[in-house]
Amino acid sequence: MEANPCHIQVNTEVAVPSKVGRKSASDRTLVEVGKVQIGGSAIVVIAGPCAVENEKQLYITANSVKEYGAKILRGGAFKPRSSPYKFQGLGEEGLKLLGLIRKLTGLPIVTEVMDTRQIELVAGYADMIQIGSRNMQNYPLLKEAGMSHKPVLLKRGMMATIEEFLLAAEYILNQGNNQVVLCERGIRTFETSTRNTLDLSAVPMLKQLSNLPVIVDPSHGTGLRWMVPAMAKAAIAAGADGLIMEVHYKPEEALCDGQQSIDTGEFGLLMKELKRIAEAVDRSIA
Ligand code: PEP
Ligand code: MN
Repeated sequence: MEANPCHIQVNTEVAVPSKVGRKSASDRTLVEVGKVQIGGSAIVVIAGPCAVENEKQLYITANSVKEYGAKILRGGAFKPRSSPYKFQGLGEEGLKLLGLIRKLTGLPIVTEVMDTRQIELVAGYADMIQIGSRNMQNYPLLKEAGMSHKPVLLKRGMMATIEEFLLAAEYILNQGNNQVVLCERGIRTFETSTRNTLDLSAVPMLKQLSNLPVIVDPSHGTGLRWMVPAMAKAAIAAGADGLIMEVHYKPEEALCDGQQSIDTGEFGLLMKELKRIAEAVDRSIA
């Protein structure tokens, strides 16, 4: 299944750090989130709202995405908002709601941590901790996440090169935690028609250079609800091991990132299409 047999002689200038580096064609780390494995041949879909807003929102959205095949629930309790005047997330109350919905649906949870002082608290509720784009180079946070025994979803910094991204992951591995998933979520370019420029070439590059699983976030990658399905499909075609997508039962009413959230019906339709794309590249949807 390896497209390029020359796994070592990659024609790129990237200096790959040793622990995240891929030593042979079969050197692939499997990351386990609850009973879900990321990095195998089955593609894992993570879905849920940008932010946890209330019990009803989380319950309805979680149940729908589960029914349509999502394997992990996302939802931010601590939100890194560009404006200090916008909804910052429910904090610990949001974590408690995630814990409740996890119990009701059986879905494992991924949620963001922004501060080293919150790691213990967040790790107490989450099955996987997310380090967001804005914190990819927060080295104390990376180290602290490495010391926790939770799998980590590391999002690419919006201004980070592939080399910087891999070095950030290496900080986590250096603490003895190799359960790291890399997430391409778009980078800043001169283009303004989309929120970010989703760098899908990062997928084959990261998979070539690193042993870690690679997933794609087409929601933040485009910032546009209507564009999410096309880029989700493209990500799978490019070799992604999973997707993380923002889904809300009423995107028009979302307190955060509604403009890039698909609704549950759209998610259901997309999952059917993703299945066909996965089969076309000899994979399946978990
Ligand atoms: C998010 O996943 O809600 C988020 C804030 O993502 P990013 O860090 O990629 O902007
Ligand atoms: Mn968001």
